[in-house]
Amino acid sequence: KTIPALFSDTVSKYATLDAAVFVGQDKRFTWSELSDAVDALAAGFLALGLEKGDRVGIWSPNRWEWLVTQFATARIGLILVNINPAYRLTELEYALNKVGCKALVTAVQFKTSDYLGMIETLAPEIATAEPGKLKAKKLPALKIVIRMGDDNSPGMFNFGDVLAMAGRDEHDSLDRISESLKPGDAINIQFTSGTTGAPKGATLTHLNIVNNGNFVTSAIKLTVDDRLCIPVPLYHCFGMSMGTMGCVTKGATMVFPGEGFDAGATLKAVAQERCTGLYGVPTMFVAMLDHADFSTFDLSSLRTGIMAGSPCPIEVMKKVVSLMHMSEVTIAYGMTETSPVSFQSSVDDPLERRVSTVGRIHPHVEVKAIDADGATVAVGAPGELCTRGYSVMKGYWDDAEKTREAVDADGWMHTGDLATIDAEGYCNIVGRVKDMVIRGGENVYPREVEEFLYRHPKVKEVQVFGIPDEKYGEELCAWIVLKPGQIATEQEIKAFCAGQIAHYKVPRYIRFRTELPMTVTGKPQKFLMRQAMVEELG
Ligand code: ATP
Ligand code: MG
Repeated sequence: KTIPALFSDTVSKYATLDAAVFVGQDKRFTWSELSDAVDALAAGFLALGLEKGDRVGIWSPNRWEWLVTQFATARIGLILVNINPAYRLTELEYALNKVGCKALVTAVQFKTSDYLGMIETLAPEIATAEPGKLKAKKLPALKIVIRMGDDNSPGMFNFGDVLAMAGRDEHDSLDRISESLKPGDAINIQFTSGTTGAPKGATLTHLNIVNNGNFVTSAIKLTVDDRLCIPVPLYHCFGMSMGTMGCVTKGATMVFPGEGFDAGATLKAVAQERCTGLYGVPTMFVAMLDHADFSTFDLSSLRTGIMAGSPCPIEVMKKVVSLMHMSEVTIAYGMTETSPVSFQSSVDDPLERRVSTVGRIHPHVEVKAIDADGATVAVGAPGELCTRGYSVMKGYWDDAEKTREAVDADGWMHTGDLATIDAEGYCNIVGRVKDMVIRGGENVYPREVEEFLYRHPKVKEVQVFGIPDEKYGEELCAWIVLKPGQIATEQEIKAFCAGQIAHYKVPRYIRFRTELPMTVTGKPQKFLMRQAMVEELG
């Protein structure tokens, strides 16, 4: 199916039920109200002259306008380009130009970022341009800027005005355009998180995300009776493919706690809206569990959810089960390039397996783990995970070379992740191939050392990584965030390790930090920690 076909099925089945709740903006939609807003915006896009295949950027935190834009672009075959709300000038310019966005839908402000100010800096021509006819030297493809909110800005359209812009003709052509779309058409460009370096723009199709959304929420047995809390960003595949598409396939209600992640706001949204499911990356669950008022929130409505995005510590999973009522929580593993999920545990897996592995392969996806020569490794041995099937992206936008490096001639996506798969098919993610540390000839998997350090009662968060070393080739470092009010010394942490893990796995350098460098998705950026340590040690 295409996204519009799926969406209209859900709307006709569940018209008067809740589709989406935006707690922060105090805005609610039933499925039929959401559908009306989507049609109004899609018709407005047509009135502005946008056509199938045109790229439309969206630069915003989780607001209702994001959701409406997602389904409006899909309705008429425009390619939605998810732009990270944390981007600043250089990254915005790169993303818009890389994929040639003709239109940009933008929030006004997010946290300390002044979005309109940044657009005016990049395209000062907008001050005197007629809306829709921008000609900016630095952003040659961009013609149309649509801003959220109610004020007017020179050279831009207001979101509300675009919703009201179209006439009969545009409305009448919506169905005809939707019906002409094919499941294999490109519909979305999602940039990867930028955990290991510069983000890459993965081009995805209807087929990719409709199906992945479906399989993801089937694994947690989501139904029309469920209310799923989505604190993860919509710009990312976790929020969009797994969140919104996953809910549309089941008619489940989407609950968005607020614009950016806030542990307290998320707990409050779950309690107030009686959510039955909750998504998050591990650091979000850590922050919620650690929240000063945690015990005052009634989370008894929760049943299920997904932890994903980076290694999910067993200790944290266990607490999510016992303290957050999420007895049916699952772990998912995936990447933007594969729409995203390929492995997920199932509600039916034994608890121990469910908290300690990423589960088994998703339906209709093939998998293998290979060694450096490309040969399949023995069962249970670590190898680079490769996946193949409907979920693999069309390619990186306008980057045939990077695409060839990632997806081989036989269609295998080389994930860059090291994994082991046991005889029953349960998979463990060992870490990124690039993050593996070779210290004095011994392979060290940072994940294993992190799991061990999480057992220390004072440790709230820990990241382990390697830095170049003259004597040993590489040396191990740990950056630790302690629980509130705690103090610890390097010696104390080393003493905790001594005799418990092999000597070469004990981090040589230990640093205490108040926070770790993270992507907006909450993923620790080891490459930045590595850079900082290298600088510190001269
Ligand atoms: P970039 O590719 O730009 O460096 P990224 O790889 O973090 O960033 P994403 O596509 O958002 O961008 O994330 C996919 C990666 O996240 C996977 O390749 C894997 O390393 C990690 N990951 C996802 N889920 C899990 C999980 N359950 N356990 C461990 N790692 C995970
Ligand atoms: Mg990646």
